[in-house]
Amino acid sequence: MKPIGILGGTFDPVHCGHLRIALDALQQLGLQEVRLLPCRQSPLRDAPRVTAGQRLAMLEAAIAGEPGLVADGRELQREGPSFSVDTLRTLRADYPDTPLCLIVGMDAFIGFAQWKDWRQIFALAHIVVVQRPGSALQFHDAGLQQEFEQRRCQQATELAGDYAGKIFLLEATYLDISATQIRALVAAGNSARYLLPDAVWQYIQQHGLYQ
Ligand code: ATP
Repeated sequence: MKPIGILGGTFDPVHCGHLRIALDALQQLGLQEVRLLPCRQSPLRDAPRVTAGQRLAMLEAAIAGEPGLVADGRELQREGPSFSVDTLRTLRADYPDTPLCLIVGMDAFIGFAQWKDWRQIFALAHIVVVQRPGSALQFHDAGLQQEFEQRRCQQATELAGDYAGKIFLLEATYLDISATQIRALVAAGNSARYLLPDAVWQYIQQHGLYQ
């Protein structure tokens, strides 16, 4: 069965860096869809700058007309911080027999051993680590390195053979764009156009966000 991709993030706001890796994963891994999940409150970061509803509306505007990308607001309905392990349990309940691929940037994967119940995540999903082409993977945690070495698979087709537990390194288009940079541009009165879809830029302007 074709796997489902899952890309979580604050999406404060969503930008072309997120969208491009979602599309690269969809195409290169032969996924049936990539579900993009805005988190209510990341356990490791400051509170988002705009409301959950605004972040979801920007995401929906960004992916309109792209059938392989789906906005999934499930984390916004839960109180408190959004832990990936809890979210993956709800996704696993919805898709009991489908391989799930949790897509994480290299920066996020390096800190993976600090995530809640991180070892249990391997029982729920595969991990797809998005790598900047040519960049090396550096570990700060020996336990994570060991899991990586045991679980790493070389071929994307292996992800469809099991429903969880493998790690795959995906070389994807890593655009040098961050939501932090976009918020700073807008706060300084500059345009963020072309870093994010026009529909998202229009939404930011119409609602006076990030000023
Ligand atoms: P901020 O600047 O506020 O920290 P961000 O732009 O890094 O935000 P997040 O919502 O925190 O965006 O990112 C969600 C996921 O997307 C993470 O796994 C992150 O590694 C990945 N990601 C973020 N920016 C890029 C990018 N330019 N290219 C590829 N992946 C990215």
